[in-house]
Amino acid sequence: MSNSGTAEVLIPRSLFFIEDFDNLNIDVEDLCSVAIAWENGFVSELKPLRNTDKKPKNILLPRFVETHSHFDKSFTWADFPNLESNYGGALSVNLEEHKTRTTDKVIERVEKSLKLAIKNGYRAIRSHIDTYKSQSIDIWIQLFKLQKKYLSELTLQFVALAPLEFWDTSNGEELAKLLSSHGGILGGVIVPPFNKKDTSKFLAKMLLLASKYKLEIDLHIDESTIEPGAGIKVLLETIENLKISIPITCSHLSSLISLKDSEILDLGKKIAEKNIKVIALPLTNFWLLNRNNKTTSLNRPVAPIKQLQQLHVDVSIGSDNVQDPWYPFGNFDPFYMMSCSIPMLQLNPWERMTLSSIFLAPSRLLNLKWDGLIKKGCPADFVILDAQRWADVFSSTLKRKVFIKGDLLY
Ligand SMILES: [Zn+2]
Repeated sequence: MSNSGTAEVLIPRSLFFIEDFDNLNIDVEDLCSVAIAWENGFVSELKPLRNTDKKPKNILLPRFVETHSHFDKSFTWADFPNLESNYGGALSVNLEEHKTRTTDKVIERVEKSLKLAIKNGYRAIRSHIDTYKSQSIDIWIQLFKLQKKYLSELTLQFVALAPLEFWDTSNGEELAKLLSSHGGILGGVIVPPFNKKDTSKFLAKMLLLASKYKLEIDLHIDESTIEPGAGIKVLLETIENLKISIPITCSHLSSLISLKDSEILDLGKKIAEKNIKVIALPLTNFWLLNRNNKTTSLNRPVAPIKQLQQLHVDVSIGSDNVQDPWYPFGNFDPFYMMSCSIPMLQLNPWERMTLSSIFLAPSRLLNLKWDGLIKKGCPADFVILDAQRWADVFSSTLKRKVFIKGDLLY
């Protein structure tokens, strides 16, 4: 059968479950030697290889989950470059691009991005889509068609990224209704400087709308270097006042890092209490924020991943933009993201919490049926690498094979 097979591989200890764990053969980088078999697209056997067996020449990872991307603007850099590379420049070039935007152009970018993502090893992706009042609802109809078209290869989730006040309009309510029948998500931006009273008012309306249609919320929040934590503070206050409980994701939260340790601790506890999930986006943050083109500084904001994880906040690491005014590089490749992020964030790939933020937390965030842990009965959705150690994984010559439901892609 084409969707069946066997392999002897190395799997990171925290990414699989095995009954016979007493006999595991684990190397210094926490990679375990195992024999894996799959039948009809599902893992049928997983057992440890003995110490005397030769070390496998391949590392197996579950297919990846991307928690945060922007398919609608990917690859627009060539026509809309932001050569100053700062946040203000990105925003104004992004708005220029909107003037030329058509449904066809967006769908073309989404499909190009999807094909790359599948080829590079993703099994699920959440993408924000810029949403504004003058936009036709037709774009959403087309996007949901693509969601269906690619369903057998990849789970696609869309967030309507709109100004907060959009969710207080009849267009906003109409879109919320449509999103609720396609697993869509309400999105918005809370980045200082902002008017606290208005932000709180419109955020409350958005939360109530989400509650009415049983929708999740994903906010771009505190992606800044000023007024650290101002956005998350307003969000926490608003939830508290409304006594409301809906699933919320905070994307970025990068300015939190400039708060005092005690303040991070205090906010982190509240974030955990409200079960708010966090996505750290180091690539765009490090590229855009705190930039001074005359001096080199290492002072870069990014969500305080380790502190938040210690407080039991579920933190994922995402890629964000690909070749658009916000970030000129990337290719929907999880290994590009890992190769850049892991060293810059000083995250050890042989540690459970690092791999959780890349594989397991993202699966929980997207509410996927499979949590990403390799075990008997899980889908045979793998990326198998020509690699024996982490240095091979983060190498420019990395060779990979992607398996979707047991079948080798290409
Ligand atoms: Zn984003």
